Amino acid sequence: MDVPPAAHAEVLVVGGGVVGLSVAWRAAQRGYAVTVADPSPGSGATHAAAGMLAPVSELTYTEEPLLRLGLSSLVRWPAFAAELAGESGIGVDHRTDGTLDVAFGPDDLAALGEVAGLMEKLSLPVERLTGRECRRVEPMLAPSVRGGVLAPGDAWVDPRRVTSALLAALSHRGVTMVAARVRGFAVEGDAVRGVRLADGRLITADQVVLAAGAWSGTLEGLPPEALPPVRPVKGQIMRLRGAPGFLGRCVRGTVHGSGAYLVPRGDGEIVLGATQEEMGFDTRVTAGALWELLRDARELVPGVTELEVAGVVAGLRPGTPDNLPLIGRTALPGLLLATGHHRGGVLLAPLTADVVAAEIAGDRSPAGGTDDPPVASICSPLRFGGPPRPGTGHFPWTKEERGPSPGRTPGPAAPEAR
Ligand SMILES: Cc1cc2nc3c(=O)[nH]c(=O)nc-3n(C[C@H](O)[C@H](O)[C@H](O)COP(=O)(O)OP(=O)(O)OC[C@H]3O[C@@H](n4cnc5c(N)ncnc54)[C@H](O)[C@@H]3O)c2cc1C
Repeated sequence: MDVPPAAHAEVLVVGGGVVGLSVAWRAAQRGYAVTVADPSPGSGATHAAAGMLAPVSELTYTEEPLLRLGLSSLVRWPAFAAELAGESGIGVDHRTDGTLDVAFGPDDLAALGEVAGLMEKLSLPVERLTGRECRRVEPMLAPSVRGGVLAPGDAWVDPRRVTSALLAALSHRGVTMVAARVRGFAVEGDAVRGVRLADGRLITADQVVLAAGAWSGTLEGLPPEALPPVRPVKGQIMRLRGAPGFLGRCVRGTVHGSGAYLVPRGDGEIVLGATQEEMGFDTRVTAGALWELLRDARELVPGVTELEVAGVVAGLRPGTPDNLPLIGRTALPGLLLATGHHRGGVLLAPLTADVVAAEIAGDRSPAGGTDDPPVASICSPLRFGGPPRPGTGHFPWTKEERGPSPGRTPGPAAPEAR
């Protein structure tokens, strides 16, 4: 849909990755007139993501708050996926067969045993398996696997299908998609009033949600201290064309000192991942990374070398200094953040969308059940510094440039607030 020179949105989402599109969908369901600005929706980290919804098997000692967020979002995924499929007609390949984390040498096994102990202490549902039991569960595993831990509650989806489904659902709800890059924010006094596109057009908005993934810290118009401290963390993956049933669940392991995983898709494809590189905005796929991915995957599941290569891609995870996302209102009126989801944006999209949509609506009821983590404090955009100086980031625009407000346009069926 073309945007006239001046347009107005009640809610303007900057960035159409899994996070921005999910926020836009939930806001549209609440009846807001939503616009999403992105030159190429779904082409960021979401395009590269393996799609694991694996808060349990990804647990590390220092990341218990992340675990709580992940568990809270994991329980939302079945309804999110079903509702999305219902609205879009597109299934997202939501699989709930768990993750098997395996170990080879005695050191690996001891390290995995320690993490399993932590999981048990936190009452997470996990099962310790011997090497033989691991191979019974996953017959394609290497004979040298000594033991493993099964996290039966972990799940996964196909993020590219999630993008397609969200775009279809947004279209169904009349959300305006603007295929343009946002250059910066329009700031009036201390409030964000909209955005300026790269081609100079202005879109004003009552509320702007910044969800531009790894690029969230690069937009103009904000005082430097108000820019989210998000950095790109490069990840490369390889996709192989296998047969359905080659693997029954996600398989992970520590090989040559680094974590490797294989994620099976419903159509038989296997995703091998992933590197973690601090390379700035570099998205080149390198021979060395592909070699390492294959080498490590072959240690886990030797049969992968027989499979056809379906594709390789690099994406940029939006990393933050404490590995936790930035979700909620900023000190600047009119600006909310939904960014910094690093390794877990697919997992955390349903929770983020519920929390941000509730915040947009001023809905203070808990976003979910009573077990919900305190997202507002764990993910507060204000936790990395003091409030920004008001009025220092003025991005010139005039009231005359404001477009007419289309007013609220209730969608076909607004669900209850979560
Ligand atoms: C290799 C790899 C594997 C991963 N595996 C998993 C996994 O198994 N499970 C999991 O939960 N997470 C995984 N992740 C992390 C996950 O992909 C991210 O956390 C998630 O995709 C972040 O979503 P996002 O919408 O914030 O960002 P993105 O998907 O990067 O989307 C950002 C969007 O913003 C747009 N944009 C950028 N700048 C502008 C601008 N100026 N104006 C307008 N639009 C703009 C971009 O075009 C893009 O579409 C993985 C990531 C990688 C790289």
